[in-house]
Amino acid sequence: MADPADDLDTKAIAATEAFAILGNETRMDVLRALWEADEPRSFADLRAAVAPNDRGNFSYHLGKLTDHFVRKTGEGYDLRFAGEQVVRAVLTGTITSAPSLQPAETDERCPYCGATVEMAYEEEVISVRCTECSGVVGGEYPDGAYMHYQFPPSGLDGRTREEAIDAAHVLYDSKVAPMMKGICPECAGQVAISYEICGDHRVGESGMCPSCDNRFEVWSIFECERCQYSRRSVVWFAALNHPAVAAFYHDHGLDEKIPFRKLTWDNARFVERVTGTVVGTEPYRFRVTIPVDEDELVVEMDDELDVLHVEKSDNLA
Ligand SMILES: [Zn+2]
Ligand SMILES: [Zn+2]
Ligand SMILES: [Zn+2]
Repeated sequence: MADPADDLDTKAIAATEAFAILGNETRMDVLRALWEADEPRSFADLRAAVAPNDRGNFSYHLGKLTDHFVRKTGEGYDLRFAGEQVVRAVLTGTITSAPSLQPAETDERCPYCGATVEMAYEEEVISVRCTECSGVVGGEYPDGAYMHYQFPPSGLDGRTREEAIDAAHVLYDSKVAPMMKGICPECAGQVAISYEICGDHRVGESGMCPSCDNRFEVWSIFECERCQYSRRSVVWFAALNHPAVAAFYHDHGLDEKIPFRKLTWDNARFVERVTGTVVGTEPYRFRVTIPVDEDELVVEMDDELDVLHVEKSDNLA
C-alpha cells in the first residue's frame, strides 16, 4: 500500500519557492481580494479588483499563485488553505506591524511573592516580570520573568495590559495542549518532545536554583519536525488536565478549567508548590507532586507525558 505521506510530499513546494512566489505586490493583492470576497471570483472580476489597468501580466501573476495558494474551480478562483494562512499572518500583524509597549506596572500581582508585576511587549514577545522576586526563569530572560513568549500583535488590540496577560496565558495553554499530544498547533505536523533536566536542582529561599537559574527542575521542550514551531513548558503542566487532578483541584475550591496554570496571585496556592522530578531514565519517568492545603496528589507520567498513576496522600508531615 502506498504511503499517503509520499503522495502529499509531491505536492509540497520548497520554502524558497514559496517566498519567491509571494514576494510580489500584485500576488499579495490577489490573495487579499480573494479573502475579502469570501466566495470564488471570476478572472475578470478579480482582474478588475486587483489590476484594472492590467497590461497583460495579471494572468502571469495569478498563474504563479495557482495551485499552491489559489485554486481554480468551476465557479472561479478561490483561496486554498495555504493562501488563507498567508492572509491570516498579515491580519494578525505578525508580518506587517511591530508594536511595542514599554515596561509598566499592572494591577496583576506576582503569584510567588505578591509584589507588583510589570508587563512589556516587544518584537512579538509578551513579557511579564516581578518587580521583587526572581520569578520563574533567569539567564537570558528579564529579571523576575515568569511570562516571556510570542504573542501576536493583534492580541493587544482593544485589551488592557491585564487583559493581554490573561489572553496570553490562555493562548499559551491552548498551543501547548496539542503539542503534548505530538501535534503542531500551527501546521498539524509531528512534534518531538525532549526534556531539559537540572541534575543538581536545589531551590533556596528565593525559590530559584543556583545551578539551572530557574524555579523548576524539569522542562518539556516541544518542537515541530515540519515547521519548527517550538514551545516549552514545565513538565508538570501535562499532569494538570488529568481528570483526577482536575477533581483534586475542584475539591479544594478551584473552579477554573482552562487555563489551569494561569498564574495569578488569587490562585497561587494551587500552583506555587507543585514540583516535577525525574524518577527514571531510559525511558523517562516523572513524578509530579501537587500540594494544596493539607493534601497532596502524586502523579506519575511516562516519557510521552501520559499519566501512569495517581495517588492521594493526606498525611503530610
Ligand atoms: Zn515575585
Ligand atoms: Zn536546578
Ligand atoms: Zn508545525
